[in-house]
Amino acid sequence: MVWTVVGPLLAGLIACPLSAYLVSRGRWQIRHPRRALMVWASVGVVGLVIAIASILLAAALSLSASSASAAAEGLALTFIAWAGLGGLGIVGSLAHLGRVDPGKDDDERPSVAEMLSRRRTDSWQVGAVAVVEIEDSRYVAVAVPGATPSIFVSRAVRHALPPSYLSAVLAHEAAHLDQLHALVRGVGAWHVACLPKRSRLRRELASRIMLLTELAADDVAAEKVGPAHLHDALVALHHLAPSRELEVRAARVRALHRTYPLPQGRVLVASLPGQRLQRKQR
Ligand SMILES: [Zn+2]
Repeated sequence: MVWTVVGPLLAGLIACPLSAYLVSRGRWQIRHPRRALMVWASVGVVGLVIAIASILLAAALSLSASSASAAAEGLALTFIAWAGLGGLGIVGSLAHLGRVDPGKDDDERPSVAEMLSRRRTDSWQVGAVAVVEIEDSRYVAVAVPGATPSIFVSRAVRHALPPSYLSAVLAHEAAHLDQLHALVRGVGAWHVACLPKRSRLRRELASRIMLLTELAADDVAAEKVGPAHLHDALVALHHLAPSRELEVRAARVRALHRTYPLPQGRVLVASLPGQRLQRKQR
């Protein structure tokens, strides 16, 4: 009877590192970021549900163990139930700790609070999303989810980019809102907090979740405004504020759309860089 609980419980627990492993190791996720995020979320959710169900089953079986022969099993099941409930409590508390953006430490990305505190200089509507221009000397654009989802774009970036490039930036940010990337990153931060500190898998998962949400938003932007505009916008932003991430994203657009004609009649010809397509880690 104990093994009917322990077996599924172990399978559920293994899903925690397994889903991180599936999304972090290998290169296929770079080409299919949205699919990779789906695999990560599905394996993680199924594992969590199985683990919770196993713990509840252990509690129920321990209460029903009545005969003297089942006393030892009942004791074991009681232990599993209490240890499991304690474990769930610890994992739940990590959700609070995991609210920190998983890629925040290795990045100069402005926080939402920072963007909201800036003086607003203009605003307009793109579809259902409000775009707010703010006074900021940095070249930044940030999607702010909420009851009225909006995109905050710095005055510097608006004035530095031609309209077609700015459209690509806005399409990218709108995709973050549509695909609930703030939520995905929050869950990712929770998952990262559940993995052993200083483990390689933990570092890899943190950077992968951030990178894959960026690439998934790029795919939507490429579809909306065309890969050439997205590519040139990424290159222009990289020239304005050099960043390894922008460089990698531009290289990926070139690699995925090799024969796409550029507006000037050029053709994107390139391959993915030899380096690993991951955000810089500390
Ligand atoms: Zn982004």
